[in-house]
Amino acid sequence: MNLNIYPWQIEQWQFLVRANRNGRLPHGLLLSGPSGTGIDDFADAFAAWLLCEQQGEQGACGQCQPCHQVLSGNHPDLHLVEPEETGKQIKVDPVRSLIEFTQFTSQYRGNKVAIIRPAHAMNRNAANALLKTLEEPADNVVLLLVSDSPSKLPVTIRSRCQRTQFSSVNRESGLNWLCESSVIDQNQVETLWELAQGKPLLAMDMIANDQAGQQAQVLADLRGLLEQRTDFMQISQNWSEYSAADVFNWLLFLIVTMTRSKLMGCRENGKSQNNRDLQEIVNQLNLRQLMDCYDLARCHYQAASGLYNLNQTGLIEDFLLFWQGQTATGG
Ligand SMILES: [Zn+2]
Repeated sequence: MNLNIYPWQIEQWQFLVRANRNGRLPHGLLLSGPSGTGIDDFADAFAAWLLCEQQGEQGACGQCQPCHQVLSGNHPDLHLVEPEETGKQIKVDPVRSLIEFTQFTSQYRGNKVAIIRPAHAMNRNAANALLKTLEEPADNVVLLLVSDSPSKLPVTIRSRCQRTQFSSVNRESGLNWLCESSVIDQNQVETLWELAQGKPLLAMDMIANDQAGQQAQVLADLRGLLEQRTDFMQISQNWSEYSAADVFNWLLFLIVTMTRSKLMGCRENGKSQNNRDLQEIVNQLNLRQLMDCYDLARCHYQAASGLYNLNQTGLIEDFLLFWQGQTATGG
């Protein structure tokens, strides 16, 4: 469980801390905003803070008895409701146990906190069961509903909660955080930021899975194939270790970056191997070729990320053949 908030959540944090100090914290809070920006962690941190015996301005102390219990996942006044499996519904039974939890006296004679996430996963019966608790909550009970799709929640639930809205993360703030929290260089961080579409926690996952390294390999292979230095079958085999949807996502990003560089007529900054590979490809292909490759990559990306179980290797090889064919007419 996480006790810290992210730098881009300070405004929401201060607002809720102030509300609590002034005795105006509502019983039902709906925390909503884009996925991949750490709202789940915010809910954890705020729940821990509400239960902490030495609340700091920036979060729970992490030292007191309740904090230890929160961290080890067995605080008696904290209750978590989640689907049994990711992507599944939250059924009525877990919500009934939550209601029961709110009715007992708190162990520490302080706050009792429940987190429901993602709240929009509650099925109709579960949502209906929760309504009464939201309408007439017991004293000192705080319900934190977390959702990146609040419009999927029944209006009756939404109207009984006070919304705390998180927006997408400011680029500068996100990049700074990624640089401080990881060991990768500035160029890679910026690339990842684009790939993760401005979702810092998603970018962090990509770092953990070494997607930056894999993407650099894809770029080097593209150049090798164009210059007839690398064997087609070897590349196909290399790429078959990645998910085809990931490969085409990287390709789309790379081709957009190449096209931008071609159009602006400017060289990519930096002297990294990545930039040299990219620039060489830009020198060898014309705009028309880049755009044709983009169209094919987009088409295959949709196929690879769709519901149908298509031949992933076939999609990758089809693209590689097309890419290889660009050499003859390049320039
Ligand atoms: Zn504490």
